[in-house]
Amino acid sequence: MDNITSIFREKKLKLTPQRIAVYKYLKGTKEHPSAEVIYKALQTDYPTMSLATVYKALKTLVEVGLVQEINVGEGNFRYDAFSTPHPHIQCVNCGRVDDLDQLDLSGLNKEAENHSKYKILSNKVYFYGICQECQEK
Ligand SMILES: [Zn+2]
Ligand SMILES: [Zn+2]
Repeated sequence: MDNITSIFREKKLKLTPQRIAVYKYLKGTKEHPSAEVIYKALQTDYPTMSLATVYKALKTLVEVGLVQEINVGEGNFRYDAFSTPHPHIQCVNCGRVDDLDQLDLSGLNKEAENHSKYKILSNKVYFYGICQECQEK
């Protein structure tokens, strides 16, 4: 939590209870929830918080680099408070998103540089497949 406090102070942004709640929720999950899922999960504790507020809080958290926005396609965004770059895998059947943090893609930027005239700064890798639960169905 110290992290969010100092980052918000540094950027001169207001650390509202809603922003903290959204960040805390994301910190506590590995599910890569959508804004709607976060909104529903926080309803009990924050009954007055609207979906628009959740979207705004997410936007701010993404802008300051505390949260990663994952574009899983079809205008579908998921959120992740594990902000260090890491590859993701999505189930094409149920839509769940998992981290593939054991997979080392550190050589990928160099590899891409070898095939282009760019100085590569970062990459975003997505894999698509069928999750274990869906395979068992
Ligand atoms: Zn699945
Ligand atoms: Zn992730």
